[in-house]
Amino acid sequence: MTDRTKGEVWVFAEQEDGRLSGISFELLGKGRELADRLGVPLAAVLMGSGVESLAVGLFEHGADTVRLVDDPELKIYRSKAYRHSMVELVKEIGPQIVVFGATHIGRDLAPAVASALRCGLTADCTDLRIGDYSDPKTKNADGTPHLCNGVLLQMRPAFGGNIIATIVNPYNWPQMATVREGVMKPLDRVSGRGGTLVRHPSRLEGVDIPVEVLEIVRRTSSVDLKGSPIIVAGGAGMGSKENFAKLFDLAAALGGSAAVGASRAAVDLGYCEHDRQIGQTGQTVRPRLFISCGISGAVQHLVGMQESAKIIAINTDKDAPVFKVAHYGIVGDANEIVPKMIRAIKQKGG
Ligand SMILES: Cc1cc2nc3c(=O)[nH]c(=O)nc-3n(C[C@H](O)[C@H](O)[C@H](O)COP(=O)(O)OP(=O)(O)OC[C@H]3O[C@@H](n4cnc5c(N)ncnc54)[C@H](O)[C@@H]3O)c2cc1C
Repeated sequence: MTDRTKGEVWVFAEQEDGRLSGISFELLGKGRELADRLGVPLAAVLMGSGVESLAVGLFEHGADTVRLVDDPELKIYRSKAYRHSMVELVKEIGPQIVVFGATHIGRDLAPAVASALRCGLTADCTDLRIGDYSDPKTKNADGTPHLCNGVLLQMRPAFGGNIIATIVNPYNWPQMATVREGVMKPLDRVSGRGGTLVRHPSRLEGVDIPVEVLEIVRRTSSVDLKGSPIIVAGGAGMGSKENFAKLFDLAAALGGSAAVGASRAAVDLGYCEHDRQIGQTGQTVRPRLFISCGISGAVQHLVGMQESAKIIAINTDKDAPVFKVAHYGIVGDANEIVPKMIRAIKQKGG
């Protein structure tokens, strides 16, 4: 039997229409850290049709190996085809860790693969680490708890986000997780960094794939929170939709690349659309500057923005939790302070 602790760390490199999604690079950044800690190779699993050229980008972002499954049947994502090919690949190679993005595709594929392999899956992780786990249920001969070395510690918010749970799967490997978008940092691209490309068969001959995709209709969002270096975000404390609209003026004064985000309470109150929600059930962002206006700083909101490089928080309550993560805090009425900020920026010429 092969030593499972020598198995590779795998990242599912998600692509659509021949373009890798950002989460693939984010996962490679974390995957590199995990693989180095375990002293094993990091492989990216790339599936699709005519996608071999994408391997270069995966190497340049940290993959040692790209495991390519290229087949016309994999051109458009379909659960059964991808699941079948992925399961067969896992059975053949035996990775110890497989991570997917918590995207529409990852959230569909990962549970199907985990179920077929009868292993565990932790969904929507916000951090992954390698560590030891002492299992109180499984005892050694001398009665001491059994120690599992070098297992994947899978962190995610639990109980409505009020605690961060660490979940382990020490026995039924591969250890599998999906990871929220925007949480992990991609490595800087190393131009010319190479690796090993390994082609694998899809093993789809004779497999009945009952779904035929007739048309893909995309709903595009006009809000690009993830790509914005500056985010002005508002919460219930803005008091009304009209007051919330001032945040768009502040974003405009800060330049075209600033975007407006919101807490869930602001979205629920109808101050803006759901596309702008930041947090556990919204988007995860890490802009260079985050200006928080009238947001209390509930943990479910903080998980989506606390990695921002600089945080300015405005709140009337000096004890608001948002001040714990803020680099600069202003205790006061956002409806007075925001117009002053706009005036000051305009006076300085933007
Ligand atoms: C499972 C689950 C998932 C969730 N997911 C999310 C999520 O993704 N994102 C999210 O944001 N929340 C989420 N929530 C909700 C979260 O718990 C909070 O209820 C929400 O973040 C509160 O939004 P808020 O801070 O805007 O409103 P409030 O909690 O009502 O806070 C308003 C703040 O504004 C301040 N304020 C009032 N007037 C002014 C003023 N004039 N000027 C300045 N400050 C003022 C107040 O002091 C207060 O701190 C989730 C909750 C659960 C249970």
